[in-house]
Amino acid sequence: MCTSFFDDAARRARRYREAIGERRVAPDDKAVGALSRFREPLPEHPCLPEEVLALLDEAGSPATLATTGGRYFGFVTGGSLPAAVAANWLAAAWDQNAAMAVMSPVAVTLERIALEWVVDVLGLPDGTAGSLVTGATMANFTCLAAARHAVLTAAGWDVESQGLFGAPPVTVVAGAEVHVSLLKALAMLGLGRDRVVSVPADSQGRMRADSIPDLRGPAIVCLQAGNVNTGAFDPAVEAIAIARRHGAWVHVDGAFGLWAAASPNYRHLMAGYDQADSWATDAHKWPNVPYDSGVALVREAAPLYRAMSSQAAYLASQEPVREPYHYTPESSRRARGADLWAALKSLGRSGLAELIDRTCAHARRFAVVLTEAGYEILNEVVINQVLVSFGEPEVTLRVIERVQAEGVCWCGTTVWQGHRAMRISVSSWATTGEDVETSARAIIAAAREVAVRK
Ligand SMILES: *Cc1c(COP(=O)(O)O)cnc(C)c1O
Repeated sequence: MCTSFFDDAARRARRYREAIGERRVAPDDKAVGALSRFREPLPEHPCLPEEVLALLDEAGSPATLATTGGRYFGFVTGGSLPAAVAANWLAAAWDQNAAMAVMSPVAVTLERIALEWVVDVLGLPDGTAGSLVTGATMANFTCLAAARHAVLTAAGWDVESQGLFGAPPVTVVAGAEVHVSLLKALAMLGLGRDRVVSVPADSQGRMRADSIPDLRGPAIVCLQAGNVNTGAFDPAVEAIAIARRHGAWVHVDGAFGLWAAASPNYRHLMAGYDQADSWATDAHKWPNVPYDSGVALVREAAPLYRAMSSQAAYLASQEPVREPYHYTPESSRRARGADLWAALKSLGRSGLAELIDRTCAHARRFAVVLTEAGYEILNEVVINQVLVSFGEPEVTLRVIERVQAEGVCWCGTTVWQGHRAMRISVSSWATTGEDVETSARAIIAAAREVAVRK
């Protein structure tokens, strides 16, 4: 393959990234319609790589959402730091299998270092074990598998060997505003999403710790650091004290909220969370690592190893190096440690703290500007999430549709405790103060237009 082919790929990628601020955030109908260029029967014959790439860029690039620009506020979406994207390219060129050290010394080393840095910057206990997975859903799954192992082992049951047939029942407790992906993880683990004991939540979605019931037998208490709508944190100090009294395992879904611990200004929200047994988080949200990148963290290595290893015995202490495939649902995996390592290396402790502070300040600015314009903010803006109501549910929906169609920025829709809302999540390193002002103006103009036409 001639070298200029990879140069062409880099050139196209660079052009895409450089033009991101000038284009619509959501693709228009024409760009989406042009995806029909991909529709053809499986080619009978080869095609030049240059032509493959040209089609991908010409038909594909315009039909993306501009999530790497500064004005995408949908879901909770990081924007991908340049160093991490470049590391991802290089690691793709390496094409390493990160399952075992013998397959890739560099992938295994970077994964281990990245995990140590994450534990450090999040203020979790020294020696916390972990693994890199695809996202918070799989991180929840991985951590809860370790939890299932630990609580059933304590009850004299070997779940990896015997499955759940005839096992002592496991009680799982979660707040009423638990993220659906945690319930999905429980379903995949045979713990049952509808068996969850749901603890009432307050107006911000925080579990009412004093409503955690008495627990008997094997039990797992699931806390949330960062509600996907409001950004609120469950009261960890109280909840963990209660869980400990009952001998329960404490798991934390902190897909994005966990990263609040990386900033001295927001660390207080994470008070007590270091006392949990396991933590799931995303690197592709707030830390702005490219997709897909999640982190599963477990205080003790043994239950994680036992739940994930294909070997029955716990051999980690005899291992000369940590072998990733003993700690993950997958065996073969890409070298995703390279992306996370590069993001943390390029930001440093101060850069990560500043990213957290800046995005939270942008969120507060949205709340101020929209309040001044007469619209209602439904949540306490504690971190980077803002919920806005423009009045009646249909009006709010029409404002959101209009904002999305205009393309200046992109905000999604949600229902918060029965109220239709626009959700603004400021999670990208790329968002500037100017992006916030431009986007707020576009949102207000759309809301006024909808009000006039009502
Ligand atoms: C986003 C999110 C998840 C799911 O994360 P994925 O990376 O999409 O798997 C889980 N919990 C919370 C609180 C989230 O915000």
